[in-house]
Amino acid sequence: MLKPIKRLGQNFLQDPNTIRRIVDSLGANPTDTVVEIGPGTGALTRLLHERWPRFTAIEVDERSVDLLREEIPGLDIRHLDVLKVDWHQLAGGLEARRLHVIGNLPYYITSQILFSLLDAAPVVAEAVIMMQYEVAERLVATPRTKSYGILSVAVQLACQPELMFPVSRNVFYPKPDVRSAMVRLRFPEAPAVHSPDPAFLRLVIRTAFNQRRKTLRNSLSRLTLPDMQPLPESWAGRRAEELSPHDFVRLADYLAGRLSHLD
Ligand code: SAM
Repeated sequence: MLKPIKRLGQNFLQDPNTIRRIVDSLGANPTDTVVEIGPGTGALTRLLHERWPRFTAIEVDERSVDLLREEIPGLDIRHLDVLKVDWHQLAGGLEARRLHVIGNLPYYITSQILFSLLDAAPVVAEAVIMMQYEVAERLVATPRTKSYGILSVAVQLACQPELMFPVSRNVFYPKPDVRSAMVRLRFPEAPAVHSPDPAFLRLVIRTAFNQRRKTLRNSLSRLTLPDMQPLPESWAGRRAEELSPHDFVRLADYLAGRLSHLD
């Protein structure tokens, strides 16, 4: 057993029923490629390695890498920071087979991991991941609710998020201070919404939500790009939290001059 390191978000799963339920949630076929983020002491890893011949685990803690290499013969485990992973390369480059990602995430970098998966959307089929309950709520939140924000919009534009089930604090060692939930993200083969300039779209979403209570007239006045179209009056009085994810795509297209009018 490894001594848990708090700074690495180490809360190890202890309950066999929860472990089985999480692994059973994965929709991968036996020939698919499965990648686990943060195997730790291997609670999920043993089952995953048994079920999927094409399996890779990514772990930043060298102690865990050494332990699992010793305990699970033939395991493909890479000593890496998940935020430095090249998902396209892992999926096999040009011959890409879309990945099934699974993990009880280190909570201190949940958002960064989510954004890195969204950026890799073309090579990801699915992600079955554990996170703080409140973050899971944000992923599935609808407009005009407290949880609705940048993560809701960015995630819902790239995939279909589903809050599968809550997970009790009692199934971890040590017990985390926060509640947890399992989430499934299903990525469509072709993006449902295509934005010609994803970086600008993300900038518009971020700028609007940075002052979520203000009208777009005010919150977006900080966006000063050359050739930007003026906001139409009908939209100037709306607030970020009222716009659907699709509204943001249209808004960004309009501001960038790709759409002649917004109604
Ligand atoms: N999967 C194990 C379980 O369910 O018991 C451990 C989960 S624990 C919540 C998170 C794991 O992510 C830890 O093993 C931790 O060392 C690892 N981790 C933390 N930061 C990481 C990073 N940047 N890249 C890869 N793994 C990381």
